[in-house]
Amino acid sequence: MLTGIFVFIFGLIVGSFLNVVIIRYGNRFFSSPRSECFSCSHPLAFFDLLPVLSFLFLGGRCRYCQSKISWQYPLVELLTALLLLFSYLKLGFSPEFFFSAPLWLLFLSVSAYDLRHKIIPDGLVYALIIFSFGYMFFFRFEASPFLSIFSGPVIASPFLFLWLISDGRWMGFGDVKLALSIGWFLGLAQGFYALVFAFWVGALVGLFLIFLKKTGDVGLSPKLKNLTIKSEIPFAPFLIIGTLIVFFLELSPLDIFLL
Ligand SMILES: [Zn+2]
Repeated sequence: MLTGIFVFIFGLIVGSFLNVVIIRYGNRFFSSPRSECFSCSHPLAFFDLLPVLSFLFLGGRCRYCQSKISWQYPLVELLTALLLLFSYLKLGFSPEFFFSAPLWLLFLSVSAYDLRHKIIPDGLVYALIIFSFGYMFFFRFEASPFLSIFSGPVIASPFLFLWLISDGRWMGFGDVKLALSIGWFLGLAQGFYALVFAFWVGALVGLFLIFLKKTGDVGLSPKLKNLTIKSEIPFAPFLIIGTLIVFFLELSPLDIFLL
């Protein structure tokens, strides 16, 4: 119990670091070491930077200029804490925990980065490929070397196919590399389940967005107005949701029909 709370709090702190990576990676990473408000550039004190708590206490606004703070901050912090907590509850402090925890941090960063910037950064996805290959090598390879090695490329192949025939318009090459790492992380069967869940969740969200657009109720976000299914919806978050469902809930698509 106490260790669980410690893991959760540690996750909140790691999450606030991930926010920095998600926002700054690729443009001016670590060029300004001191945190400041994006709107008024006022330097932020440590009590402005407490994960989740500061956002709640300040009502989601900057203390100095009252401009709105992105929901991304508390959300990424909370999700990081929950991912580390669930990993700990499932695996304890086992070697598997220490190999899979970095994978979840990278999965989360890639999802948030894809949602924010509509692209999957190479640096993060290469780190994912290395960690997932390591995970496969240490925890699955011995049982079935052949299947383990090929699980990554096999799971990536439908995305490679979509990328090739659409000239990169339906699916980015980042999604191909992400699927490669999901295949190595989950293995062939579970990797396939994750893809099925990803397409289901993606289709549901897509239908929901079309419904919102049709009914004209797009007051939520002006971005929705010029949304087209083909290009604008990033697919990485759905792949990761599929991976979450398979890894933590241990569900297969068939289980859904039996619920
Ligand atoms: Zn400000």
